[in-house]
Amino acid sequence: MSEIRVLDERTINKIAAGEVVERPASVIKELVENSIDAAATHIEVEIMQGGTSFMRVTDNGTGMDKADIEAALLRHATSKLRSVEDLTTLDTLGFRGEALPTIASVSRFSLISRKKGADLGIRLTVVGDREDFTEIGARPGTTIKAEDLFFNTPARKKFLKTTATEAGRISDYLIKFALSHPQIAFRFISGGKLVMTTPGGGDLKEAILAIYGQETADALLPIDFAEGDTKVTGFVSKPSCLRSSRAWQSFIVNGRIIKNYGMMRAIDNAYRAKIPKVGYPFAAIVLTVPQNTIDINVHPQKTEIKFADEAQVFKIVCHAVQTALEGAEKTINTAAAPSSYVAAPVIHELTLPEADAPQAAPSPHRSSSDEEHVSVYAENPPQINVPVTADTS
Ligand code: ADP
Ligand code: MG
Repeated sequence: MSEIRVLDERTINKIAAGEVVERPASVIKELVENSIDAAATHIEVEIMQGGTSFMRVTDNGTGMDKADIEAALLRHATSKLRSVEDLTTLDTLGFRGEALPTIASVSRFSLISRKKGADLGIRLTVVGDREDFTEIGARPGTTIKAEDLFFNTPARKKFLKTTATEAGRISDYLIKFALSHPQIAFRFISGGKLVMTTPGGGDLKEAILAIYGQETADALLPIDFAEGDTKVTGFVSKPSCLRSSRAWQSFIVNGRIIKNYGMMRAIDNAYRAKIPKVGYPFAAIVLTVPQNTIDINVHPQKTEIKFADEAQVFKIVCHAVQTALEGAEKTINTAAAPSSYVAAPVIHELTLPEADAPQAAPSPHRSSSDEEHVSVYAENPPQINVPVTADTS
C-alpha cells in the first residue's frame, strides 16, 4: 500500500498559514483588506498585547449571510475571482480566498456579520472542528475576532517578537491602509488606548495630518504628474524634512500598498542632488497604471507586484518627484524667500555625521537585501491626534 496520503483540510490550512499568517500584523492586514473589499467606510481595529492575545476588526461593509460565511471559510473560496483571466482586471485587494480559513485554523476565531438588508446577524464560532452558527442582533457589517494566535502551533508562536514590536507592525500596516484609502475612516485601539484615527473624507493630506501631525503636513510637496496611461500623485517632503529610515515612505499602486525597490530608488535619485546628508524624505506616492500592466500575484502576502516595465515606472516616478521638487523651488524663488527654505528645517533627527553613524544607520542607496521592516514607532512616533476623552488612564 502506498505511503503517500492526501492531507486533510485542517492540516493543509495550518501548513498554508505559514505563508499567509506569519504574525498578528498579517492577520490584521488580511482582515482589513477584506473590510476594504467589502466597501466599508468605517474600519475599527482593536488589539491587546500586540495582537497576540486579541485582535478584532469591525467594519460597516456589505456583510455576509450564513451561506456566505460557510463559503468564506473554505480554502480557495472567494467572491472576488472567477477565473485566472480576472487577475488582470481585478480591483479588489483579496483574491486568493485563503485568509479566513487560515486565520481560523491558527487562532480562536469568531465572526459576527449582518448582511445589508438582513434583519438579524449571524454569529459563527469555531471550536476545533466544529462550527457553530447562531442568529443574533448586530449592526450591518462584519466583526471578526482572532484570539490567542498560534495557540495550536507553538513552534510558530516562538517566532513572535515583543508585544511592542508586534503592535508597531500592526500600526505600520494601518497607517499604510489609511494612506492608501483616505476615503475610509480608521480607528486603531491598542491596549485599551485609541492610538490612531483618520477622518475618512477622501483627502490624502488630511490623512497624513491625522497620522503624522502638523509638522509633517506643513512640509509636504504635492505630486501631480502624468505620462501616457500612468499617473503619479501624492506627496513628498521638502528636502529639509528627512527621516532616518524608509518607514515613512509609502507606495500605493492602484490602491494597493506595495514594496517596490525601483520606486524607492526613484525617490533617492530625485533627491540625490538636494540632500546633502544621509536620510530619507517622507513620501506617499500614489501611482495609477493600467491594471493589465501589473502582476499582483507574485507574493503570498500580496506585498509585492511586478510591473510589465519596471524601468519605465522608475523613470516616471523619478520625474514626478523631481517635478514636485522643482515646483517647490520655483515657488520659493519667485516669492524671494529662499532663506525660509534653507534655514527652516522642519524636523531634523538626522544630525549624525556619516563617520559617527552607528552600523544600522541607513545609507541613502542601500541594496534591496538590507531593506528590513522598520516600525515607524521604533524611532519616530508619529504625532497621532488622540482625542482627550480617549485617554482615561
Ligand atoms: P479573499 O479576500 O481572497 O476573497 P478571504 O479568505 O480573505 O479571501 O475571504 C473570503 C471571502 O469572504 C471574501 O471573498 C468575501 O466574499 C468574504 N468576506 C471576508 N471578509 C469579509 C468582510 N469583512 N465583509 C464582507 N465579506 C467578507
Ligand atoms: Mg481577503
